[in-house]
Amino acid sequence: MTARVLVVDDLVANVKLLEARLSAEYFEVVTAMSGPEALEICAREAIDVVLLDVMMPGMDGFEVCRRLKSAPRTCHLPVVMVTALDQTSDKVRGLEAGADDFLSKPVDEIALITRVRNLARVKMLNDEMMMRAATRQRLGLDAETGPDLEAAGQSGRVLLVDDREGAEERLRTQLDRGHTLACECDPAAALARLLNEPFDLLIVSLGLRDADGLRLCSQVRSVDVIRHLPIIVLTEKGDEARLMRGLDMGINDYLLRPLDTAEMNARVRSQLRRKCFSDFLRSRLEERVEQAVIDPLTGLHNRRYMDTHIKSQLNDAVKRGKPFSVMLTDIDYFKSVNDTFGHDVGDTVLKEFAARLRRNTRGIDLAARIGGEEFVVLMPDTDVDRASQVAERLRNRIEVEPFRISHAGDEIWVTASVGVACLQNATDTADGLLKRADLALYDAKRRGRNIVAVKAA
Ligand code: GH3
Ligand code: MG
Ligand code: MG
Repeated sequence: MTARVLVVDDLVANVKLLEARLSAEYFEVVTAMSGPEALEICAREAIDVVLLDVMMPGMDGFEVCRRLKSAPRTCHLPVVMVTALDQTSDKVRGLEAGADDFLSKPVDEIALITRVRNLARVKMLNDEMMMRAATRQRLGLDAETGPDLEAAGQSGRVLLVDDREGAEERLRTQLDRGHTLACECDPAAALARLLNEPFDLLIVSLGLRDADGLRLCSQVRSVDVIRHLPIIVLTEKGDEARLMRGLDMGINDYLLRPLDTAEMNARVRSQLRRKCFSDFLRSRLEERVEQAVIDPLTGLHNRRYMDTHIKSQLNDAVKRGKPFSVMLTDIDYFKSVNDTFGHDVGDTVLKEFAARLRRNTRGIDLAARIGGEEFVVLMPDTDVDRASQVAERLRNRIEVEPFRISHAGDEIWVTASVGVACLQNATDTADGLLKRADLALYDAKRRGRNIVAVKAA
């Protein structure tokens, strides 16, 4: 991972020091000596994380942070405030200005690398999701529809894994009131719980008596459904080696014992906000991926999906020397359903038609709506006789039972025509197969509808 880090400090010595340490960890470093210069760089270049000195002449770090966070182009850029005074009030002011994290001078090496690495990782993940989703507007990241990160930061479901006497009670009194806290002493029990209950944050002690907390962290990262869960570990001075291993396996942050209440709450908030934002992006992306392949009216696959899949299914059948059939079906006189009962009733019929289609095909068959009232079913491992039977059964299922078109129980009778075509030889193409199914369907219509026609060759 080669993240670009912008180091902002008015003192050359500080800039050089941070630059050297970050470069040693293979970060690409850009530097600025004043607030305005930093803003200019962020507006112009691709930066992944900003390390921002608080005390600078002219425009101080708080102001730079506020401006970055209020500009649409830079508002998702992670900012770490570097404070000379190890004072809670400074940290709080930094967070109020929108900072994502803070470091105290003199800057601790592990703290520096952890914060930067994690922020860069989150930023790059989010960037990738945003890029894949094309534009921010389409993702719904505008103020009205975006997630409420502030609220997310204030109320999280936290699981603590710690076996010290009174650990749960102590943390409960320290943790901001909006959160809920659960505790497990045993990592195995914790993992089971994580798989069964929804949590927003995992806090793991690295000082468990009979178990290794890092093992739990690595398990969480390897199980698909929970691998995005933020993890904070509790550690002590002197255990840096294990902390570094934890960071390598993707824990998000750490706290040194004895815990500083203000710092702990700030870090918890920040992890919860980040999780909320990434979850939001991920769910939007999944929705969009789904939208791209699913027909919203019927829930069947759409034409685009069918087009890509028929090619691979056909190749597969040719390679394995298996039969492959396609069924194309079109509702008869559907225009008159719309004309007589209205478009909404037409939609109701389409939905019920899709449901019957789904019920009468196997799980491995792929059913898609490829036009207004035109559907395709791809049937792997199915020869012409079997495909004709399936088609006949579907035709029958449509014909024999009326379609309900109102809550009052009004019903209408619907029929459909079906065309069937099968893979003939290794040179057959998807287009050729669909074309033959279409010809068969045309034949069925021409012969009076409510008929199955097969195009053998
Ligand atoms: P045929 O038996 O020859 O197939 O006649 P038909 O009336 O079914 O065929 P035609 O292609 O003339 O008309 C199809 C109609 O399907 C026209 C259009 O209004 C309707 N349609 C297409 N998409 C939708 C939709 O999403 N919802 C509804 N309600 N109607 C649709
Ligand atoms: Mg029709
Ligand atoms: Mg039609």
